Amino acid sequence: MCGIVGYIGFREAWPIVIKGLKRLEYRGYDSAGVAIINNNGFNVYKKAGKVSTLEDFASDKDRSGSIAIGHTRWATHGAPSDVNSHPHSSNDNRLHIIHNGIIENYSTLKEELISRGHEFKSATDTEVLIHLVEEIQKIEQIDLMEAVRLALNSVIGAYAIVIIDRENPGQLIAARKGSPLVIGVGSGEYFIASDATPIVEYTKNVIYLKDNEIALIKPNELLIRRLDNVIQTPLIQELELKLEAIEKGGFDHFMLKEIYEQPRSVKDCMRGRINLKDGKIELGGIKEYADKLKNIERIIIVACGTSWHAGLTGEYLIEEYARIPVEVEYASEFRYRNPIINEKDVIIAISQSGETADTMAAIEIAKEKGATIFGICNVVGASIPRITHAGVYTHAGPEIGVASTKAFTAQVTVLTLMALYIAQQKGTLPVSKLTSLLTELNSIPDKIQTVLATDYLIKNIAAKVKDAKNCLFLGRGSGFPVALEGALKLKEISYIHAEGYPAAEMKHGPIALIDEKMPVVFIATKNSSYEKVISNIQEVKARKGIVIAIVTQGDTEVKKMADYCIEIPDADEVFLPLLATIPLQLLAYHIAVMRGCNVDQPRNLAKSVTVE
Ligand code: GLU
Repeated sequence: MCGIVGYIGFREAWPIVIKGLKRLEYRGYDSAGVAIINNNGFNVYKKAGKVSTLEDFASDKDRSGSIAIGHTRWATHGAPSDVNSHPHSSNDNRLHIIHNGIIENYSTLKEELISRGHEFKSATDTEVLIHLVEEIQKIEQIDLMEAVRLALNSVIGAYAIVIIDRENPGQLIAARKGSPLVIGVGSGEYFIASDATPIVEYTKNVIYLKDNEIALIKPNELLIRRLDNVIQTPLIQELELKLEAIEKGGFDHFMLKEIYEQPRSVKDCMRGRINLKDGKIELGGIKEYADKLKNIERIIIVACGTSWHAGLTGEYLIEEYARIPVEVEYASEFRYRNPIINEKDVIIAISQSGETADTMAAIEIAKEKGATIFGICNVVGASIPRITHAGVYTHAGPEIGVASTKAFTAQVTVLTLMALYIAQQKGTLPVSKLTSLLTELNSIPDKIQTVLATDYLIKNIAAKVKDAKNCLFLGRGSGFPVALEGALKLKEISYIHAEGYPAAEMKHGPIALIDEKMPVVFIATKNSSYEKVISNIQEVKARKGIVIAIVTQGDTEVKKMADYCIEIPDADEVFLPLLATIPLQLLAYHIAVMRGCNVDQPRNLAKSVTVE
């Protein structure tokens, strides 16, 4: 995926586009580029690296103009390099395109275009698309919007694109299928972006372009057609996003800010959904399906990455309380496996961005087979909430750090609410138990605050283990997904090789890795597997491993054995992931900062994976 920004209007476009690209940098940062038009002509600047590299490169060049398109890339086809950076141009250098997504049939199209005399400069799929538009326009002698429409009808793949024409500079053409695109509506100006963050400070009025729609945008005119040529009436919506939500607010990194936001984000996620007085849960988003929930025979959770870990906590919760068998699947495997699904199945699809390509494909497959699909997403109005039958938003607010933190705890909170909601519908939990669980859930934000207060200790531990080459994370029961998530956080932002395992599985392989240089992080809180975890800690100590343990406040047993302990407040076992994950996020964060890594934009990663 990548970030796209466009502007057409009366203001200087360069600062708007650059600031917007910086906001979207979480989506990709392999390279950045801008094409800008002014009265004297047309300039394209593009550079491998961050948006700031592009900014430095162009600082002594002509950046004036009030029409521009900009791109920050997450490479799929062709290495991150200057030449593969977007915008890409047509053969005659007249049309310029920025693109988010993949043109799957690009190589067939490329061969055909080469046979017609086209010469390509880059290794990207994107360049093929703009040559195709050029070719169609030349042959058919039609306007640009129509040529783009015909070209898009013959490409396979996913895209959000914006095209600029240097001979006809008063317009932009935008289109989307599978990748997001938002149009900000100003007075005498329009903004275009992959999400609303580059737009929010200029206008609150936005149009979410839908799949298969193509827009012609002029300073005072907007025309939207579908790819089948039917004219659409744009729906202007008001943005709820606040500027503070997308700024660092005094923290060194977005990731740290987002870790610290968790007491609030978990609270926001529960707001209006828990009725403590009557011991009831209300989930408006899936209310219509309340009766159906009584008779579900199976739930399949599909997700990728951190959301998949949240899914594992969901399995534990739903099986425990609602007594329905749950399978948790990687969306990328599920979609290609001819899975056995029927109308009685409920699929829960989890995706922070609501745009994850594999999860979307998995949803389509399950939908075709008649299953009921619920979504759990953070970004309101994203693609997944639109293609699911019903769903529950996590309301965690924008998450900008590439490594997911508050979105994970919000997903787990929603899954907890869903499990208890299904239990409530099925009557598998006595009201008294439900009430006590809800009361405890309600106290989780304060307990997260208590965990955050141990940050200084976690930082000290980080300093001791920051040079490790490998790290093991072990947990049992609901501590297992926490171990997986802790390992993922560490590897993605610090580049230390880390593995999460069920603690008992250690003996079946990973124990061979343990020596005096190996930190092993245990989720060793007081719960049903406490004694067993203690035995596992002893096995690690016997091999001289460095034990870091997440323990329940007041623990004395583990403290005797572990090298370092981090205390978290006591809570019912099912709430463990909401508390035990926090110190692991902080541990990964501090280690990464101490190693000089870019925690908000780790190498090779992007925030949401909108390509397969
Ligand atoms: N497929 C295009 C490329 O590799 C666009 C990737 C993106 O979404 O950033 O350049």
